[in-house]
Amino acid sequence: MANYVNNDNNFEQANPTSRECPHCGAHAPLLPVATPPFEVVRRTKPRHVGLVFRCAACNEPRFVRAAVRSIGEERIELSATLTEIERVRERFQYGYLPERVARLFRETLDCYTADCFNAFACMCRRTVHVSWEHIGRHARLRWHALFQDVVSIGDIDGATTRKLETILFGDQEDLPEISADEAAVLIEVIKDLLYQCFVRTGKLKAAVRMRRFFAGEHAAANVTPIERRRLESA
Ligand SMILES: [Zn+2]
Repeated sequence: MANYVNNDNNFEQANPTSRECPHCGAHAPLLPVATPPFEVVRRTKPRHVGLVFRCAACNEPRFVRAAVRSIGEERIELSATLTEIERVRERFQYGYLPERVARLFRETLDCYTADCFNAFACMCRRTVHVSWEHIGRHARLRWHALFQDVVSIGDIDGATTRKLETILFGDQEDLPEISADEAAVLIEVIKDLLYQCFVRTGKLKAAVRMRRFFAGEHAAANVTPIERRRLESA
């Protein structure tokens, strides 16, 4: 199966492509918007061409690259595999994080998305240190307890645990090099640490405040009829 650009510039898609959108997160079809002109490809004979699609769900542009397989009189054959330029970004509830932590953590996750695993590890350590500044006293101890918890729930092996511990909690030691496999564990660990520390805490505090507010309203509502009865009987 392939994709074609016909000599009347029509684009023929072998199979409609549906993928997770890096903008809205929906698994939506890609609809062609701009495809390479037949004459230009025939004249310049590139190895790859760029195409622009749009997300059927959110309308954002999706930039795609395809290999040119053959150039004929009638049509140009492009590879069936369309490689998307923008990768799907990791998601997180950044709204619960202190501003500086959120800013650094976005970059941290972007490093992971770009497959820059050692840069990702460095940024994890920075995120941890900035988070501690917000938590104040006993931050390191608290995070260490959270880390042990994640390790035991996630059933992470000893060698990986030691390496992640050095990355996250090491002070002066060099950062060890990290593989794709270890980075995959690290991303889950750091997301969980931040979730436990900021998101869970923020949600819980908001829920308690809300409950207390409505409990107060309820108590006030219970008082009102008595007041009203008194006024009515007066
Ligand atoms: Zn979308």
